[in-house]
Amino acid sequence: MSTQIAHPNLPPAHVLIGDKWRPAQSGETIPVINPSDGEAFTKIARGMAADIDAAVAAARRALEGPWGRLAPVERGRLLTKLGLAIADHHDELVRLEAMDTGKPIKQARADIVAFARYFEFYGGCCDKFHGETIPYLDGYTVMTLREPHGVTGHIIPWNYPAQILGRSLGAALAAGNACVVKPAEDACLTCLKLGELALAVGFPPGVINVVTGYGEEAGAALAGHPGIDHISFTGSPQVGTLVQQAAARHNRPVTMELGGKSPQLVFADADQDAALPFITNAIIQNAGQTCSAGSRLLVQDKIYQDFVGKVAERFTALKVGASDMDLDCGPLINRDQHVRVKGFLDRADQAGFKRLACGTIAANAPKGGYYVAPAIYDNVAPDHPMAREEVFGPVLSVFPFADEEAAIKLANGTDYGLVAGVWTRDGGRQMRLARRIQAGQIFINNYGAGGGIELPFGGVKRSGFGREKGFEALNGFSVVKTVAIRHG
Ligand code: NAD
Repeated sequence: MSTQIAHPNLPPAHVLIGDKWRPAQSGETIPVINPSDGEAFTKIARGMAADIDAAVAAARRALEGPWGRLAPVERGRLLTKLGLAIADHHDELVRLEAMDTGKPIKQARADIVAFARYFEFYGGCCDKFHGETIPYLDGYTVMTLREPHGVTGHIIPWNYPAQILGRSLGAALAAGNACVVKPAEDACLTCLKLGELALAVGFPPGVINVVTGYGEEAGAALAGHPGIDHISFTGSPQVGTLVQQAAARHNRPVTMELGGKSPQLVFADADQDAALPFITNAIIQNAGQTCSAGSRLLVQDKIYQDFVGKVAERFTALKVGASDMDLDCGPLINRDQHVRVKGFLDRADQAGFKRLACGTIAANAPKGGYYVAPAIYDNVAPDHPMAREEVFGPVLSVFPFADEEAAIKLANGTDYGLVAGVWTRDGGRQMRLARRIQAGQIFINNYGAGGGIELPFGGVKRSGFGREKGFEALNGFSVVKTVAIRHG
């Protein structure tokens, strides 16, 4: 495929209920904007509570039908087929994702490869996930069964629509649930395409239902629906609170994958050349719109000037443009996000933080796109919003530290705890930091481990709770039932 984005076939503005595609019951639609030029290029259905009701009912019927009795090996085969179908439609999905989100084509490609991998991975898990027997009193046999929750709701953000859909839906389906998905209003197209592929490979009607729409309409209706048995939410901490409140009305369990303000720590003994590309990529990937973005760089004072200078050089070389220009960064997702990130930059400038370097927006980038040049700020005050809040843009804040103890304090000094990167050759320090940094994932001498479909992922503190990815996610998408038999 060339880097040029040919116009893909766009899904109609429909919701998927059971095996039927139809307009939202309101008859209304929402325009879809291409962030690269700010122009509307298609529409999606504006689903609301009535559509969510229909989707939940369809999912319940699916559970009561053949899906609920399907042997795990058959479930696994369906998931694997879906993964293969995604791989077969790679180029089309890449184009949809790139137009919808504005991300550079190379990033969209990586995302669609991971999208397929989630179904491949979870397809292989279905017949390997089981309960246990527990040694108990004489005359008893006790076992645990792993059962699906039932109907699971999946609320997806716009930053990695395909990847996050894959990780959430893949694990939920592997555990035997039937699903209702509410993708983000800013980026739904790959989710709609997935619904089409799932029916084509033979998923029974109602196992996967898709209702597009606004968060406060379709999303809120899903979160508070009495027919939903579990909610998986990925998004902002603020909306996460609303979703928890809605689910609490019916005492339903939730998984919360929320934001981050992740530190990358570089000690004086680190392999600097190895660290440099990771440090830059961890903040500019997806234009910084990544929950696990390495948005804080903590550097030991002995190497501070030299190392930060090298990172700044890399920032100076960064280029920003439309998704089909396939540069280092694409645009931000929408106008609000553009205004928000610019606001952070203005406040950092007003606070007198030194902007060490800045990338460049390509001269031929379309004028209406939501572009921000990547920026790196020196010596940011640890209590400033720039140091504590999620900017969700390509902005790196840098902080010096004197020793290990100071580094740990700084690393743990925000409300978030999603991931952390540690660069040091000292094995003892690697282990001490791995244990003392508050985060769901710690990377030693790397960052992100290449995506890591197999690696449990999730936060502590304000970054959320519950784990997705890897085998561990199956625990979250299932319930344990204990069976105690007294046989004498
Ligand atoms: P968001 O919270 O605004 O929206 C997420 C989803 O929630 C969307 O589908 C939206 O329509 C829906 N929603 C909005 N209001 C709702 C309501 N009242 N009830 C139910 N649903 C509602 O987040 P976003 O702007 O799409 O994504 C960015 C945020 O997501 C960042 O904070 C980022 O860190 C976080 N994120 C976390 C992870 C993770 O795995 N931890 C991954 C990606 C993104």
